[in-house]
Amino acid sequence: MSTVALSLGSNLGDRLQLLRKAVSLLKGAGLVILASSDVFETPPWGVENQPRFLNVCVLAETRLSPEELLDLLKQMEDALGRTPEKRWGPRIIDIDILFCDGVSVRSDRLTIPHREMARRAFVLLPLAQVAPEWRHPETGLTPEDMIRLLPPAETGGILRVCSL
Ligand code: ADP
Ligand code: MG
Repeated sequence: MSTVALSLGSNLGDRLQLLRKAVSLLKGAGLVILASSDVFETPPWGVENQPRFLNVCVLAETRLSPEELLDLLKQMEDALGRTPEKRWGPRIIDIDILFCDGVSVRSDRLTIPHREMARRAFVLLPLAQVAPEWRHPETGLTPEDMIRLLPPAETGGILRVCSL
């Protein structure tokens, strides 16, 4: 069994319903959800002219390898109706692997821990709720440490909306 942290985001359609549906699909696929963060509403990142996102993090246990988990997440994104979109553009659902125990993976398809996590407040705020003690294997930093290192503008405009 490994413990994984996943980041889920949506900025199209019924965003909250899509996040809840995604978590129920994860459970249906055999993942055991250990913790879910609150739902945060966050300004779009990278491409600014698009609707605000809802973001959430879950901590889960799985027997899947990181590659098998990525395959499952991509299938789930398809099942929820995600269509190809431009980089950082609007999406029905995005599910990313933030970490997988203390493992580092670097392949063409997969980078774990997620390569952008340290720059993204919308990932780190929910992650700090579900995995406050986790440390990035390369930097030794906890989610809170990474949040403190962000420019203050990155954490502004992020609102806690509700529980999942
Ligand atoms: P985004 O970068 O906005 O999440 P996609 O969801 O389309 O965009 O992901 C693009 C590709 O990123 C995926 O097809 C996957 O192969 C790759 N990828 C690399 N590392 C990860 C990770 N840790 N979690 C999810 N996808 C990853
Ligand atoms: Mg993704």
